[in-house]
Amino acid sequence: MNKHKLFLNGEWLDSAAGETFEDINPATLETIGLFQKGSMDDVNHAVDSAEEAFDSWSRTPPPQRAKILYRAARLLEERKEELARLMTMENGKVLPEARGDVQEAIDMAYYAAGEGRRLFGETTPSELPNKFCMTVRRPIGVVGLITPFNFPLAIPAWKIMPALVSGNTMVLKPSSDTPLLAVELIKILSHAGVPEGVINLVTGVGGEAGTALIKSRKVKAISFTGSLETGKWILSESGKDMKRISLELGGKNPIIVMDDAKIDLAVDGVLWGAFGTTGQRCTAASRVIVEEKVLPEFQRKLILRAKGLKAGSGLDESVDMGPLINGGQLAKVERYVQIGADEGARLVYGGSRINPLPGYFFLPTIFTEVTAEMRMAQEEIFGPVLSLIRAEDLSQAIEIANSVAYGLSSSIYTENIKNAFQAIERLDAGITYVNAPTIGAEIHLPFGGVKATGNGAREAGTTAIDEFTDLKTVYFDYSDRLQKAQIDTQN
Ligand code: NAD
Repeated sequence: MNKHKLFLNGEWLDSAAGETFEDINPATLETIGLFQKGSMDDVNHAVDSAEEAFDSWSRTPPPQRAKILYRAARLLEERKEELARLMTMENGKVLPEARGDVQEAIDMAYYAAGEGRRLFGETTPSELPNKFCMTVRRPIGVVGLITPFNFPLAIPAWKIMPALVSGNTMVLKPSSDTPLLAVELIKILSHAGVPEGVINLVTGVGGEAGTALIKSRKVKAISFTGSLETGKWILSESGKDMKRISLELGGKNPIIVMDDAKIDLAVDGVLWGAFGTTGQRCTAASRVIVEEKVLPEFQRKLILRAKGLKAGSGLDESVDMGPLINGGQLAKVERYVQIGADEGARLVYGGSRINPLPGYFFLPTIFTEVTAEMRMAQEEIFGPVLSLIRAEDLSQAIEIANSVAYGLSSSIYTENIKNAFQAIERLDAGITYVNAPTIGAEIHLPFGGVKATGNGAREAGTTAIDEFTDLKTVYFDYSDRLQKAQIDTQN
């Protein structure tokens, strides 16, 4: 069996304690590799290496840094199919989705590389004569990147590429459910020419390697994507030494279907939004709020289509839905199905494991007669479980949509332009789609949410660089005399 290592200061090494953990294929339950269980000693080694490398990397001209990213993008492209297959084995997502995940990493590498010749600041007039004002960007220092299991390549790339081109050095701690793709990404970056120490990889469990990274005083910023629970802990812990934190957390994303919507289009969108990636996307649609006139037709068509979804190994091209990531997630989904039934929601399709498949498979599951305050309509389940909620009109639909703690993605299906703009204006979410489901972010637009989904950070797009740079404001006075702002300009 393949035994993988940590990447510390440009070398592939065993963990200091010599402990390992297994990476399991969630479709077959076979072990696909052994990975190092990093501890505080390994994290300290990684952070020291990153700190050592910072001076040289941060002073490398950004267009030179970008050349390495362009090379990484090309290497990712060359290996796209191989990486997608490894991802399907490790994460379970079906091959077309795994290819999409790799493509997102490729796109982000190219996009961030382009920033090597931008990294724009601002220039603006001074209120005084013979004085010049501008802002310039500076890297933050050593950054800690902690990533979840559901986009094993795309999410690390969303963080690494902008952090690298901005001149930071870093330590990546990927999910213990998907360490293999992180190892492959680091190999590619290393082959592309990222100097030793600039990027370091510590695999391991969150409570140990992740915690050590959060607690390290030399780490100046943390970029975290994961659950609300972990995010809250990170925020409170990191505040102690004033780390800069960006959090991308959970969602409970609604799709509103108005009675003027194209129903077949809405059914298509809901099916993809709710059951794509087995519901394990932060942007997955877990609530559909339907105007009452079209609810019977919508419900009938949706159930029919959900019954046609084929579950199985994602390597089989005829399969629509892979397994859940692990036994804990399967148990959580089962628990919520029970909670829904206990609360009085009506199970109309699914609700159980798929036997005799050996992996963590669960049927696409639909509940009707769900009301806004039920736990299953409020809490993130992160599985293929969809709640149908009735609404009288657009105002009530928006009220229901906004009644949860989270605010990541949202969507409305309508042919009425006024309804669409009402939704854009009033939905409390970082993202609103019109006539498309809640999933499908493009990397050149900002990504993130409001309320409990995060702390205001936006990844991707031009904002990707904001996450990994500090702005310095520069006042350059060439008047040869003392000029006093706000005083010399007074009449
Ligand atoms: P998780 O919070 O369990 O784990 C995320 C990462 O944090 C993993 O690497 C884990 O090892 C690490 N971790 C766990 N405990 C830690 C600790 N105490 N200190 C430091 N690190 C720790 O999340 P998950 O189950 O891997 O991912 C699913 C969650 O991620 C869902 O809630 C989903 O909505 C969210 N997510 C959000 C976005 C977004 O952009 N908003 C994107 C993808 C996933």
